[in-house]
Amino acid sequence: MNFLSHRVQKLAESETLAMARLGNELKEKGINVINMGLGEPDFPTPDFVKAAGKEAIDKNFSYYTPVPGYKDLLEAIAGKFERDNNLHYKPSQIVVSTGAKQSIINVVMATVNPGDEVILPAPYWVSYSEMIQLNEGVVVSLETDYKSDFKISPAQLERAITPKTKMFLFSNPSNPTGSMYSEAELRALGEVFKRHPHVLILSDEIYEYITFEEKMFSIGSIPELANRTVTVNGLSKGFAMTGWRLGYLGAPEAIAKACVKIQGQFTSGASSISQRAALAAVKADPSTVNQMREAFRNRRDLLISLFREIPHVHCNNPGGAFYLFPEVSHYFGKKYQDTVMSDAKDLCMYLLNVGHVALTPGGAFGAPNYIRLSYATSEAQIREAVKRIKTALSDLR
Ligand code: PMP
Ligand code: GLU
Repeated sequence: MNFLSHRVQKLAESETLAMARLGNELKEKGINVINMGLGEPDFPTPDFVKAAGKEAIDKNFSYYTPVPGYKDLLEAIAGKFERDNNLHYKPSQIVVSTGAKQSIINVVMATVNPGDEVILPAPYWVSYSEMIQLNEGVVVSLETDYKSDFKISPAQLERAITPKTKMFLFSNPSNPTGSMYSEAELRALGEVFKRHPHVLILSDEIYEYITFEEKMFSIGSIPELANRTVTVNGLSKGFAMTGWRLGYLGAPEAIAKACVKIQGQFTSGASSISQRAALAAVKADPSTVNQMREAFRNRRDLLISLFREIPHVHCNNPGGAFYLFPEVSHYFGKKYQDTVMSDAKDLCMYLLNVGHVALTPGGAFGAPNYIRLSYATSEAQIREAVKRIKTALSDLR
């Protein structure tokens, strides 16, 4: 008997997590695999945040939490949105969740009806498309490439909007490309949105603190768009807290309330300990994570300089996050022994099994000619990984 629902059968396994799993399986067999598959900072959580978590345990923060989050945390997040982003959400417009992933699925469930179109600039983060499809929404993907720094133009956006468009969803800085829209570019897209008031904007700003050239601009700070922008953020990336599972959003009041209703039925409030730790992180001056940012910048510079020496791959110069997204289609159709590399997935499997570097194929992000490298790993590992990739690619015939 097949007991599985049609919905879950249509749902793909998260490719980022799948590649990490395959990499770990090889590692467990004793093979020295370098994992550049998963987007996860390799740093430990800052000590002052850990201390707040420990204190929470000692002070018996062990009971159910209010579904939207502790009141003082909601206030602190409202203050953070003011301080860093010029966003004016009231605490009642903020919802804390078990990771930004949950924040996003809450919004998708709260807003997307069957047949609603959701515009995703591609490459997009893996889970966006799956979440939309699970809710029977229609993904409208807008193609970009490394030559345009993976950015859509206002004209492209204008052409994609129809009366059925419900939402525009993007991450800035971007997972998987690391590229970041400037304030001027977002204001230009904002002009298009102003002409189409029926479109909700979901801005995923989880890489906010990992930017190298300029500070990230929040599209929701454009006054005419403020009342229809949902801003998602979280602690996983900026504070190296992936396992603490803490994310949050600011949204128009009705959407925030709907998210609370959904979360109240599914998971309840986020972890008490993680919320107390999050309070310390959110209140801290963002300069406390400068060291991590600088390390990521050095790694980016190193990875790009090494990657540019590999023939026939093309990449941009990402302004944020910790990903590089090279175009590798030159290698499609080539062979290793009897195995043909028909696509990026074959290439990633080859680079994993023969080169012993775990990467993620671009198809999962709506960009089949690319592969994603996460450079949240040491400079020594980066050097060794590129050496392995270069050798493996040069062995293809
Ligand atoms: N959005 C983007 C763009 C991400 O890369 C991630 C990474 N996991 C998430 C959301 C989810 O983060 P969290 O760990 O807070 O669920
Ligand atoms: N967001 C990270 C990534 O893209 C973590 C994995 C996940 O949450 O899917 O690799």
